Amino acid sequence: MSPVRNSKNFKTRLVRKKISNGVRLKYLTISPSQTKKLGEILAREILKTRSGKTAFVIGLEGDLGGGKTTFLQGFAKGLGIKEKILSPTFIIMRKFSIFNSQFSNFFHVDCYRIKKPKEILNLGFKEIISEPKNIIAIEWADKIQKIMPKDAFWIKFEFINKNKRKISIKWR
Ligand code: ADP
Ligand code: MG
Repeated sequence: MSPVRNSKNFKTRLVRKKISNGVRLKYLTISPSQTKKLGEILAREILKTRSGKTAFVIGLEGDLGGGKTTFLQGFAKGLGIKEKILSPTFIIMRKFSIFNSQFSNFFHVDCYRIKKPKEILNLGFKEIISEPKNIIAIEWADKIQKIMPKDAFWIKFEFINKNKRKISIKWR
């Protein structure tokens, strides 16, 4: 497990491993700001990649208080978003603009309160994930596993203790 403190190492590993499937990168963060930093670096890496034929979808899963929203605060910062990323208690989905040549929108989705994937489909999910200019990050994505695209990126958050979180990133 590599400490995220070494963000340079994270970057090079991320770029190098990006090409292969089934790789799981594991990190241990010891503060909310480290988790934010990890999100920020990942966002910057995504902006550098060429957009595909469909949207870039990230599923976040794991413990309540595991750091999913915290991670996405850093992620949004890395995308150049100035607005605050909140835990959307009553709002399931929020849309933000990205000013980048490849990507135009960032969608923050939180499935914590939903009961059926249908509730997400009703928000136009299929259209959103088919647009290459979109980046979508979904908290509690395991609840909508059935409708998640096969090529989604998965990030798992585990609560270790008050300030420690284990974060693992996986492609396919
Ligand atoms: P989730 O969205 O997964 O439910 P949040 O990001 O909303 O989790 O909450 C994580 C909580 O844990 C925040 O209050 C944050 O300050 C705290 N925290 C403590 N250590 C960490 C860490 N290493 N990474 C992320 N959050 C942490
Ligand atoms: Mg959350």
